[in-house]
Amino acid sequence: MFCVSLGVLLVAGDFCSTFFYHVPQHIWGKLHLRTHHDNTRSYWEHSIVSRNPSVLLDGLLGALPYFVIAGILAMFGRAAALGAISGLVIGHLHVLWRHTCEIGWVSPAWLVRLSRIFQIVLPEDHDGHHRNPDIEFGDIFRFYDAPARNTIAWLRAISPRRRRAAALRVMRTRNRRSASALRALKQRKSPTG
Ligand SMILES: [Zn+2]
Ligand SMILES: [Zn+2]
Repeated sequence: MFCVSLGVLLVAGDFCSTFFYHVPQHIWGKLHLRTHHDNTRSYWEHSIVSRNPSVLLDGLLGALPYFVIAGILAMFGRAAALGAISGLVIGHLHVLWRHTCEIGWVSPAWLVRLSRIFQIVLPEDHDGHHRNPDIEFGDIFRFYDAPARNTIAWLRAISPRRRRAAALRVMRTRNRRSASALRALKQRKSPTG
């Protein structure tokens, strides 16, 4: 029960945090982009060391799904509660570790191989997300990256604001086309033309 609870906390926590917080923030939000992706500063500094209220709020909202799931798991008895708490501790240690590229972490080859087998996010992978916010989603597990990117592409396509912008673009092109057709017609009609 301990191990099941620990596993569920990490897998389900990462799923909920990625799809209910991280992905929506990348499409509609500002907080996460302003704090976690502020490339004017070192991300070790603003993700881990900083005590700025917005940075802390972003971290807290990202961690909230893990806490909710831990609360649910704790209802299944002592072993499950201990598993969930251990999951929270491991999750927190992983947050610290995945931001260490900037302070010199380099993953050894054996760890890269192992992490690819278990689909674990390495600091190098998360560094990719800080360099290019459109790639490398998933806090702990890399198998959330592809579905997260697909969800973002899909939501961007159906998002009302984006749809309106696309419709506006089509209308402008049409207007331009009809204006030039009108000009051509006028030229043909004019006696001098
Ligand atoms: Zn980060
Ligand atoms: Zn992000």
